[in-house]
Amino acid sequence: MRYPKLRELKEAVKALILGPYTDKFPYKPHEPYERFRGRPQYHEEDCIGCAACVQVCPSGALSFSDKNEGGKARRVLTHRIDLCVFCGQCQANCPTEKGIMLTREFDLSSTQSRQELNHAIEKEMLLCDGCGEMIVPADQYKWVANKLGPLMFSNPSVFLSYLGLGENEGRSGREIKKPDRFKIICPRCRREAVLKS
Ligand code: SF4
Ligand code: SF4
Repeated sequence: MRYPKLRELKEAVKALILGPYTDKFPYKPHEPYERFRGRPQYHEEDCIGCAACVQVCPSGALSFSDKNEGGKARRVLTHRIDLCVFCGQCQANCPTEKGIMLTREFDLSSTQSRQELNHAIEKEMLLCDGCGEMIVPADQYKWVANKLGPLMFSNPSVFLSYLGLGENEGRSGREIKKPDRFKIICPRCRREAVLKS
């Protein structure tokens, strides 16, 4: 006959006195512990749209697409809960540390379709004043400018967008000229403008 180990006996006595470890979820609400890794949630005001989280997501639960509809350019970042493995890499690699954060939400079963369960946010994109191509989310330049401090003045696109001075009309097809170096333009157009100077 095998005797129970002392550790198991100790746990049995503790459970008799303190009650069971398990709780009565779903009949009673369950409060996960402090560092529980539940559903990730985008925070639009803290996200700069850089898409670093998309690059590090191991399961492809995060994605982004850039859309320009009638001069209104947007980056759409989407989280698919059905693909998420709750690893926390998105939060760990977010440069602002608050753009996407794991919540303690764990009760995710639902009768909604997968599409309805997606969570998406939109960020405004800057357009090149030369060729009209999308360059980068406006909030990303602002964040970079804040990080650089006075060094931001080495890049006209960064400081003009930070100070809100660029025309940024996204005109396409026009010839790049020397004065365009002091406009919000994409790296390709900037090279062209510098070569003409
Ligand atoms: S928790 Fe992991 S799997 Fe889920 S979105 Fe973040 S990086 Fe992707
Ligand atoms: S700021 Fe953070 S949450 Fe937003 S796109 Fe970049 S890495 Fe993702």
